[in-house]
Amino acid sequence: MKISITHLMQQKVVYKIELNKRQQKIIEIVKDNGPITGEQIADQLDLTRATLRPDLAILTMAGYLDARPRVGYFYTGKTGSQLLTEKIKKIKVAEFTSMPVVVQDSATVYEAICTMFLEDVGTLFIINKNGHLAGVVSRKDLLRASMGKQEINSIPINIIMTRMPNITYCFKEDFLLDIAHILIGKQIDGLPVVKHSQNETGLEVVGRITKTNITKAFVELAHDEIL
Ligand code: ADP
Repeated sequence: MKISITHLMQQKVVYKIELNKRQQKIIEIVKDNGPITGEQIADQLDLTRATLRPDLAILTMAGYLDARPRVGYFYTGKTGSQLLTEKIKKIKVAEFTSMPVVVQDSATVYEAICTMFLEDVGTLFIINKNGHLAGVVSRKDLLRASMGKQEINSIPINIIMTRMPNITYCFKEDFLLDIAHILIGKQIDGLPVVKHSQNETGLEVVGRITKTNITKAFVELAHDEIL
C-alpha cells in the first residue's frame, strides 16, 4: 500500500512538472514567430484569446515566455532545468525556517535532554541571561556527556556546548542554497537563524534551519505547479 502511495506521488510530480500539450505548442509558435501577440497565437491554434490566457500566464510566470506591452510574447530561450536552478538559487531562509528551541545556559545536561525529547528536535540553542545566543548542543554532545562518570543532573549545559564565537549562524535574508553548502561543508545538522539585538550587543535566535527544512524545500519544488 505504501509503495503505491509513493508511486502515485511520483506520478503526480512528473505530471505537474511537465507542460501540457497546448503549452508546448504555444512555446513552439512563439519560438518560430515571436514577438507575437496573444491574439495571433490564438488564431494559429483556432482558439479564443480568453481560452489561452491561463496558459500564457503560466508560461510567463514560469519564465519560458516573456511579454512586452504592445510588442507581444517572445521566447526566453530558457529550459525547464535552467528555470528550476534559477528558482532554487532565489529561495531565502525565511521561507523555510522553523521555530527555534532554546535552553538557558544555566540549565543542566539532564534538563537539556528532557527539552530535546519534549520538543522533538535534534539541535538545541543555548542562550545567556540577556537572551543572546551563547551555544549549540547536538544529540551527540548530550550522548557524550551522558557517557561520562559525572551525574548529568549536576553538569551545566554551558560546559559541554559548542560556544560563541565558534557557532555558525545565518540570517533570514540568506539564501537557502548557501546554507545547504554550509551544512554539508561543516558536517552539522542545523543552524540558528539570528538577528542582531536592538543594542547590537548580541544575537537573538529567531529561527532554526536544519537538513529537514532543506528536504522540505526540495519536495516543495518538485510539487510546484509552475515548474
Ligand atoms: P551530532 O553531533 O548529533 O551528529 P551535528 O552534526 O549537528 O549533530 O553536530 C556536530 C557537532 O557540531 C556538535 O559538537 C555540535 O555542538 C556542533 N554544532 C552543531 N551545530 C553547530 C553550529 N550551527 N555551529 C557550530 N557548531 C555546531
